Amino acid sequence: MGIAASMHDFGKTMMVCVMEHDVSHQHVAWEWFDYGQTLALLPMKGMRSSVVITLPAHDIQGLMAVNEEAFNHAVEVRFKHRLSAMRIVSTRHAYQLVTVDTDRFVALRFALIGNAAVGMHPVTAHGFNFGLRSAESLAHEIKVAYTSGRNIASTDLLVRYEKTHKRATRTLFLATHAIAKLYSNNALPARLIRRVSLHIGNRIFPFKRAVANMLTEIH
Ligand SMILES: Cc1cc2nc3c(=O)[nH]c(=O)nc-3n(C[C@H](O)[C@H](O)[C@H](O)COP(=O)(O)OP(=O)(O)OC[C@H]3O[C@@H](n4cnc5c(N)ncnc54)[C@H](O)[C@@H]3O)c2cc1C
Repeated sequence: MGIAASMHDFGKTMMVCVMEHDVSHQHVAWEWFDYGQTLALLPMKGMRSSVVITLPAHDIQGLMAVNEEAFNHAVEVRFKHRLSAMRIVSTRHAYQLVTVDTDRFVALRFALIGNAAVGMHPVTAHGFNFGLRSAESLAHEIKVAYTSGRNIASTDLLVRYEKTHKRATRTLFLATHAIAKLYSNNALPARLIRRVSLHIGNRIFPFKRAVANMLTEIH
């Protein structure tokens, strides 16, 4: 459709699977920013969690290839045995970490939604939410036009959708990109900035509350 997109390859791959574990997750989602790896544990029903491991691409290949016993052991070690014994109960899926950014979401009688419009780093866990929001915004415009007998694919309508969706996503897209770049850089200055910003962020309660409100969309 002639819509240019810029892509940023973080040089990392995310592996996702479901695991059972002996110690309860207590319904808490965890995210570790370690040197050389990022780990996430998202609680599911019962003694199960969705496990997300982010590593350089060649390290993920090893995890994808090993048998279940070796895989379980490798994940337990990475999680420092916090959940005691862990067992994989799903297939493993690997996703290359590439973000996609485009200036335009629309063209003639055409609109991008979902990741095709805003394909951001999963660290702030909002890609899917933004996808739903894009579908809702576009559907709203179409419904209004349809009920008043107007063209449901007019350029005005599509541009309105584009503006609405850009307003809803731009700030978090840029913030997420900046955070992801900072946390995937292990050079000393980046490590120092991380340490200082976490220290300040953790102590300034209004800032902490503002970030939490932005991510949960509570105003
Ligand atoms: C590890 C990980 C964790 C995430 N965690 C969260 C989270 O906690 N919260 C959140 O909100 N979001 C999260 N996301 C982001 C979320 O998964 C995506 O934003 C969402 O899946 C995008 O949905 P989509 O339908 O737009 O695109 P996709 O899910 O990418 O679907 C596009 C589909 O189109 C297919 N396709 C591509 N090209 C073609 C073609 N030429 N012809 C036919 N089919 C094609 C693809 O195979 C794919 O099935 C996460 C993403 C990852 C990778």
